[in-house]
Amino acid sequence: MAASPESPTPAAATRRKAGRHRGEGQWAAGHRTPLNGNEQFKKDDDGLNVRTRIETVYAQRGFDSIDPNDLRGRMRWWGLYTQRREGLDGTKTGVLAPEELDAEYFMLRVRIDGGRLTTAQLRVIGEVSEEFARGTADLTDRQNVQFHWIRIEDVPEIWRRLEAVGLSTTEACGDTPRTILGSPVAGIAADEIVDGTPAVEEIQRRIVGNKEFSNLPRKFKTAVSGSPLLDVAHEINDVAFVGVHHPEHGPGFDVWVGGGLSTNPKLGVRLGTWVPLEEVADVHEGVLSVFRDYGYRRLRNRARLKFLVADWGPEKFRRVLETEYLKRELTDGPAPEQPAGVWRDHVGVHAQRDGRFYVGFAPRVGRVDGATLTKIAELAEAHGSGRVRTTAEQKMIVLDVTEERVDSLVSALESLDLRVTPSPFRRGTMACTGIEFCKLAIVETKGRGSALIDELERRLPEFDEPLTINVNGCPNACARIQVADIGLKGQLVLDDDGNRVEGYQVHLGGALGLEAGFGRKVRGLKVTSAELPDYIERLLKRFQAEREDGER
Ligand code: SF4
Repeated sequence: MAASPESPTPAAATRRKAGRHRGEGQWAAGHRTPLNGNEQFKKDDDGLNVRTRIETVYAQRGFDSIDPNDLRGRMRWWGLYTQRREGLDGTKTGVLAPEELDAEYFMLRVRIDGGRLTTAQLRVIGEVSEEFARGTADLTDRQNVQFHWIRIEDVPEIWRRLEAVGLSTTEACGDTPRTILGSPVAGIAADEIVDGTPAVEEIQRRIVGNKEFSNLPRKFKTAVSGSPLLDVAHEINDVAFVGVHHPEHGPGFDVWVGGGLSTNPKLGVRLGTWVPLEEVADVHEGVLSVFRDYGYRRLRNRARLKFLVADWGPEKFRRVLETEYLKRELTDGPAPEQPAGVWRDHVGVHAQRDGRFYVGFAPRVGRVDGATLTKIAELAEAHGSGRVRTTAEQKMIVLDVTEERVDSLVSALESLDLRVTPSPFRRGTMACTGIEFCKLAIVETKGRGSALIDELERRLPEFDEPLTINVNGCPNACARIQVADIGLKGQLVLDDDGNRVEGYQVHLGGALGLEAGFGRKVRGLKVTSAELPDYIERLLKRFQAEREDGER
């Protein structure tokens, strides 16, 4: 069961109307004067230009030489974020000034469009992790890899190594077109409606690093999947292309716009159009252009495309897209069908359409390390053809395994604690970066998520139902708190003795898929980290005892 997002109060609606009257900073309305600090630094210099300064100045002279507008602004255009200084607990978040929270180290995000990797690329990621990132290499829920502990001095060499094998960090963060999610089994799955790979590649070629699109109002997330499993969380992307069969025109894509979570979550809406594979990049560029030109640039927390889509509605959005950008009408089309299964992560052993198999596996809450990634590359070469994929659920897949090699690969992965047949708790638990590295975090996430998996496996060994538990370190929704069965939003809570300790606000009953909706915030239900296993055990036992037929 899922609740709708709340409607604004009359007072909030009046304030918003008054704000709009003053202008939302839309370029299409002639507003070119920056209305906040971020718009100002973007106008002063394109974020992409910071690369030259990193290579020629900052990497030579060190952290203290970095201009603050580059440090906390433009460096994101190259995937670099300062990480949280060690030893600062959640009481310091939002209290200390940004420079007091900053460590002299960076998170560096590698974009992996479509989740497609060769083992040569995976080996380089492993090598960079080991040499420059103290072994860190987290899998994100946008198919990327994130390093931590990166020194500015090492960044040019890291880029050289990544780019030598065709990887990049370009626009992995910042107000840019972010990594393009793609079905991790594109081109190989037996049940595929349409292979979106050419569209992902064409969007990447046109958009990434293109200064026409490097100053957006906010980040812009894209997803493309022709899988009937709906495996790229299309409902929570700014634009998504989802595989459908048109009764007259055949396979193509249904277009969704305006999804996004964070503190004001909205699910994407359908434009009601059918787009053939070869036109996906055109439509994508049109939607991106609408966002660049009409997107709100006054307030950062109202700048994502979802706010424009909510104000316009899908009909007006489609009309503007068609008349002002595409200069033609789009074809009407059907909605995607309900997927057969609940899991969308491709974990397990599955037949490819060429007779070989792909093997999906679950690390713990996306946490792997450089040494493990190198071993995965070795296993993929020994058992497959050297192709690996990352998923939008913090999982990985080895492709092209012949039937006689499957068992050997499965046992080798399991021996690395990479589960091919995981418990629902291992499979369904995701966690964001959390207080270990994130400056916005209030609580720890990865370690808590991992310990929670162990506890639930021990306490509920018979539990065998699809279940998602998403652990977030703050009210932002990097690990999709609102669309999990059990969403945990990190905050400080009071324990029985009245002490402020790490804990979570609980959201229940969120979902993705065609029954997508946001979980209900259980009013007043906050659990401390220490109480978390007890709470979830009670909840799941009660759910099993009282559920109705077919109820998730
Ligand atoms: Fe950081 Fe919050 Fe995002 Fe977690 S949800 S990674 S704590 S900003």
